[in-house]
Amino acid sequence: MTATQQTRCRHCGRTLRSLKSVAAGVGPTCARKIRKATAAQAVAHKPQAIEKAVELIEQGGILPLRGRRVFAVVSSDGTRTYKTAAQGCTCPAGLKGRHVCYHRVAAEILGLAA
Ligand SMILES: [Zn+2]
Ligand SMILES: [Zn+2]
Repeated sequence: MTATQQTRCRHCGRTLRSLKSVAAGVGPTCARKIRKATAAQAVAHKPQAIEKAVELIEQGGILPLRGRRVFAVVSSDGTRTYKTAAQGCTCPAGLKGRHVCYHRVAAEILGLAA
C-alpha cells in the first residue's frame, strides 16, 4: 500500500471492493469500459500515443474537471498541469496543434468510456 492508492474508483467515484481494484485505482466495470474505449481509439492513433495515453490513465495522471469532457493532465515531468479535451490541449505540443498529443487521446478514451 502506498499513499497514492485510493479506495474509490478514479473513473466513477464508487468505492472499490477488491484489493486488485484498489491497486488498479479503477473498478472492474470501468476497467473494462476503458479497455474497450482504448481498443476503439487504437485504430485512429499511433501505437505510441495510445501507449502513453493508457499509461497516463493508469497512473491517474488525467482527472475529470468538468463532466467527462475537460480533464486536467499532469506533464510527464510532474511539474505542470494542462487542460485537455478531445478537441484540444494546452500542452506545448497541443498548442502547436500539428498533431494530436497523447493527452487528447487519453481524453478521448475516457470520454468514450464514460
Ligand atoms: Zn468505476
Ligand atoms: Zn497535450
